Amino acid sequence: MPDALRIYIETYGCQMNEYDSELVKSLLSGAGHSLAANEHDAEIILLNTCAIRENAHSKIYARLQQLKALKAKKSYRVSVGILGCMAQNLRDDLLDTHHEIDFIAGPDSYRELPDLIGRSRKTGEKGRALALSRTETYSGVDPIRSGGVNAWIAVMRGCDNMCSFCVVPYTRGRERSRDPKGVLAEVESLAEAGYKQVTLLGQNVNSYRIGPFGFAELVEAVAGVPGIERVRFTSPHPKDFPESLLEVIARHPNVCSHIHLPLQAGSNRVLDLMKRTYTIEEFEDLVAKMRSTIPGVAISTDVIVGFPTETDEEFEDTYRAMERVRFDFAFIFKYSERHGTYAAKKLPDDVAPEKKTERIVRLVDLQKRITGEINKTYVGSTVEVLVEEEPEKYPGHWSGRTDTFKNTIFPGEGCKIGEIVRVEIERSRGSALFGRAVGRAAEREKRASAAG
Ligand code: SAM
Ligand code: SF4
Repeated sequence: MPDALRIYIETYGCQMNEYDSELVKSLLSGAGHSLAANEHDAEIILLNTCAIRENAHSKIYARLQQLKALKAKKSYRVSVGILGCMAQNLRDDLLDTHHEIDFIAGPDSYRELPDLIGRSRKTGEKGRALALSRTETYSGVDPIRSGGVNAWIAVMRGCDNMCSFCVVPYTRGRERSRDPKGVLAEVESLAEAGYKQVTLLGQNVNSYRIGPFGFAELVEAVAGVPGIERVRFTSPHPKDFPESLLEVIARHPNVCSHIHLPLQAGSNRVLDLMKRTYTIEEFEDLVAKMRSTIPGVAISTDVIVGFPTETDEEFEDTYRAMERVRFDFAFIFKYSERHGTYAAKKLPDDVAPEKKTERIVRLVDLQKRITGEINKTYVGSTVEVLVEEEPEKYPGHWSGRTDTFKNTIFPGEGCKIGEIVRVEIERSRGSALFGRAVGRAAEREKRASAAG
């Protein structure tokens, strides 16, 4: 048995990293280590990193500077490990240039962490575990979650899409799906533990497939687990949206009416260069089908501005597409060249930084206006909110999300985190709705009877 050490893990980036950190906690606890409450109390500090844009890297470099100082100050030995996409992407460069790092491990190598840590402590070896796997899904590892109403659950890992701007296929490897029996067993035990909502995760979640059992079948099976009030999923790709999936969302009151549908760009030439495999017309047809199949569905998106060679007119295509589609909200990014991608190898990063800024500012302004207009249409209606927390900013209030993912804030006594409350919306401000509680809801029954 290795020495038991106190471990602290800090997570950057996407929800998949949040989930992976929960897996890492489980693997390390299983190896006899314990979890430290903060970095000051830890002997091992792990940073679970992201590589999706350059600013994700910059954050980690800044954090490493702080950890270097912390290591030097401590009277006991502190080791620093880098996990996740940045470790996988930069590999030896990271160890060669940042001597405060003791070991690195990529997203498919977390089972090796206890060994890496043991060797690093015993011999000082700067270990690396970076093999990408075609099969690793961490089945059998029971994540240590931090509580709350939502549980993340990765149902597939990796991505085969090779969008030309994206580093994910290089840092997380090929697509592989988890056995549905294992997923369902995990969801059942989450319901027993009191979780009300599960969010199914995958880099390309709707390409989930085990033989004839696809994503629509999986969502339907998860929705049938007693006690699960809400099912969400992220991130889907527009190419994998069969009608059967939309029907499952429409049919099951506890599958949330919110779809995150990354657009990326509104110009067909740019979409083609991005290797997104759909045209803007096909994307908009899919949105129309979603809206007719799932009345009231909220749709959000991701957009990149300043992709290599994007002209002013092509940016206007994106602007106009966003005006037409009217997303509920959007994450808008400036293009950031990523090492190893097709775009980095073949396309010049030739849109000037000022131009990228100008474009992002215009899209953010447009989206703020549209979000505000959509949210105003909620005023006067009664929505069902899954209570998540008592927000610090609004003492005496509760906050949670509607089925359509709108952050909703309301005052009240006697609410409980995890219950569904009916809230009459009185006003909207920015991306939030404000209202008053008008009762408790049995969301599932009500929506089921509404659906006939
Ligand atoms: N799998 C999802 C999809 O198909 O769109 C997206 C996952 S990615 C982690 C999240 C978002 O980051 C992408 O949708 C894209 O908008 C953005 N992104 C990815 N690579 C980027 C890059 N090189 N520069 C700027 N934004 C990027
Ligand atoms: Fe990246 Fe494209 Fe895969 Fe999304 S679908 S993770 S953007 S390669």
